[in-house]
Amino acid sequence: MLERVYDTLIAILYYELPKDRYGKVTIYDRPVTAWYVGERDVKNNNLSVTLKGASSNLKDIGLGLQEFTHSITFEINAGADNIAMTERLVQETSRMILASLRKHRRIWVVDYCPICSKFTLSPEHFIEEHNDILATYVTGVIADYNSLWAETHPASIPPAELPRSAKATEAFLRMYEDVRNNVAVTGLSITAKKNILKMQSDFVEPIRILYDCLANTTASSDDAVGQALFRNGNITFQAKELVKQDSYGPDNVPITAIQK
Ligand SMILES: [Zn+2]
Repeated sequence: MLERVYDTLIAILYYELPKDRYGKVTIYDRPVTAWYVGERDVKNNNLSVTLKGASSNLKDIGLGLQEFTHSITFEINAGADNIAMTERLVQETSRMILASLRKHRRIWVVDYCPICSKFTLSPEHFIEEHNDILATYVTGVIADYNSLWAETHPASIPPAELPRSAKATEAFLRMYEDVRNNVAVTGLSITAKKNILKMQSDFVEPIRILYDCLANTTASSDDAVGQALFRNGNITFQAKELVKQDSYGPDNVPITAIQK
């Protein structure tokens, strides 16, 4: 559910925060030595970030549409050799993570690319790196968009240009559906096709978008007394996600489906 969201948030922070020569995110002179997914009993006591406490509330918002409200907690753990340094470290790490997250009110969540297995942060990847497969789909997307535009605008107003990420998303999803419907896709390898079919049988949403993303609560230190050399900061991050619902039941189960 939120596994790819975790991966995406860690990737955004890793990309944006300053790094040392070994490629580790560094706050003051301390490297972030671990990015944990899920809470731990034991953590290294230098500087680490844990993504945890996820929940996803789902509600109906219209016919065929449901909306998730995801909630994730970032816990920052810092332990230095004196209390003041521990406090400064946890404060500064919380500030920097918050500064990075605040820039992302909308976030693409892109699953592993079924063609080259890269984990990317933007659907533009598909037309940057796989244009040989997707170029004809992009042409179709632009043509359909222009004809829709012409239905509601006078010819004197030319169509606004679609963002590259939107073109890439629509082109990729058309190709993805062609594979589902057994339509031949020129240039798509057998492995990539198998990967897409596996994603479909696993109900994977290959490209998602989170909106209304907000780090809405920050406790940049827990002010602990008993463990003052190991302090925690907490940031709660919320995001919404709209999902299609195109099947309702009760008659959408085949009569051949039986209990195993
Ligand atoms: Zn790729």
